[in-house]
Amino acid sequence: MKILVCVKIIKGEINPFDASALECALQLSKDVTVLSMGPKSCEEALLPLTRLGAKVVLISDAAYAGSDTLVTARILSAAIGRLDYDLVLCGRQSVDGDTAQVGPMLAQKLGCGLITNALKIEIADTKVLASTRMGEESAPLPAVVTIERGYILRFPSIFSKAGTVGIWDNSVLGLDKEQCGLAGSPTRVLESFENERGKRKCKFISMAELAPLVEKLKKQERRAEAKAESGVKLSSVWTAGSAVYEKAAEIAEEVVLIDETDPVKIAKMAKEKQPEVILWNADLQGRRDAPIAAAILETGLCADCTRLETDGETLFMYRPAQGGNITAKIKCVTKPQMATVRTASASSDIIVSGGKGVADKAEKLEALAEEFGASLGASRGLVDMNGAPYERQIGLTGKTVSPKIYIAVGISGAIHHTCAIEGAETVIAINPDKDARIFEYADYGVLEEF
Ligand SMILES: Cc1cc2nc3c(=O)[nH]c(=O)nc-3n(C[C@H](O)[C@H](O)[C@H](O)COP(=O)(O)OP(=O)(O)OC[C@H]3O[C@@H](n4cnc5c(N)ncnc54)[C@H](O)[C@@H]3O)c2cc1C
Repeated sequence: MKILVCVKIIKGEINPFDASALECALQLSKDVTVLSMGPKSCEEALLPLTRLGAKVVLISDAAYAGSDTLVTARILSAAIGRLDYDLVLCGRQSVDGDTAQVGPMLAQKLGCGLITNALKIEIADTKVLASTRMGEESAPLPAVVTIERGYILRFPSIFSKAGTVGIWDNSVLGLDKEQCGLAGSPTRVLESFENERGKRKCKFISMAELAPLVEKLKKQERRAEAKAESGVKLSSVWTAGSAVYEKAAEIAEEVVLIDETDPVKIAKMAKEKQPEVILWNADLQGRRDAPIAAAILETGLCADCTRLETDGETLFMYRPAQGGNITAKIKCVTKPQMATVRTASASSDIIVSGGKGVADKAEKLEALAEEFGASLGASRGLVDMNGAPYERQIGLTGKTVSPKIYIAVGISGAIHHTCAIEGAETVIAINPDKDARIFEYADYGVLEEF
């Protein structure tokens, strides 16, 4: 069983999802090759992986710098095409780009089967079987599988010796340089700026005032949701699935709901009818299907947009970007312009959401939720330390919610979290740190330990 593992080095460290994929590969086979694309400086972080018995290749060329997900998949598939393989494993996503697009795009470029969000995999004859976040799945080999963060990467044995990292530049891959890097990438970041959206004026109250306040808010009528209608609209937008219909209607005169779920067929229809824009829901299914269609159409895809705008021709897509409080405005220079879009999931009227700060107070948090008849939410900080199941996660990589009352307990308020609670009618934060960012996004604050 020959396994290739795609690994990204981020700030000198292996992307945690890729570390999980590598451990998974090492458990399945002794014939493992790590492929990483990045600057030459990544060699130092990749070298220790040779001590695990893996062959390691760094794909590095100045012409590849600034590649977006489509171009990364193009370059990786060219490299993989030079190797023998039965299985390609990728981490579910990189923790900096966070798009989860490269794996599905790679599968499409390689013409392989695809399984995403695998928690555990095994090989049975000529098939890969996987338990995924969407259920049990299988695919014939060769296949691409994206792996969740369940496997813990082993340490090398003290007796192991380091090997060498092979370096492949464009003289090896022979790609058209115009099709690589920033120049070849169909998505462009136009600007990045501090996100002011969702900011609220916080009134501080005491813990004793919390319950009466919640009771009062519960009795109030819900405000009608403000629609972000834009004056200038695109003439027509396609949506894959009805979840993004409303978002599409805000920026288009006509919304065409695609009567097809297979992304390969959707891409075929788009080739024939040439729509300007296709929008997908940023759920697990949309995040898997949209990259497949984008890879077929060779078009740009912006992941997990929280806001859309248009000047009547171009679609401007906004998403939180790496580095915290920054929002990036992105456009796509190819057609159709494509995006996966966050939509608020149907959520209960009241959510009590726990963060890392109350990781050891699960019972107290549950009691508070019960007292207010609320459902439970969580920050990624809490989910990552196994303090809550992923299904509860609210934020960029979890759910977007719009409850009547959102109570954030022990949550610092990173943009990745606050971007998903903009639609909450009232936000209440409980946190002893007066400088916590969550208070800038809360209507009421309790400056006390929970
Ligand atoms: C690409 C990407 C995607 C991400 N996606 C998400 C996402 O979907 N959702 C998400 O939430 N995050 C996401 N994150 C992570 C995000 O940036 C933050 O790291 C995370 O939200 C922090 O979680 P936290 O607020 O629970 O923990 P921390 O930032 O550690 O904050 C804990 C807070 O608890 C407070 N506290 C301590 N003790 C108490 C107490 N007794 N009572 C009350 N408060 C207390 C502290 O003052 C502190 O403010 C993402 C990050 C990246 C890079």
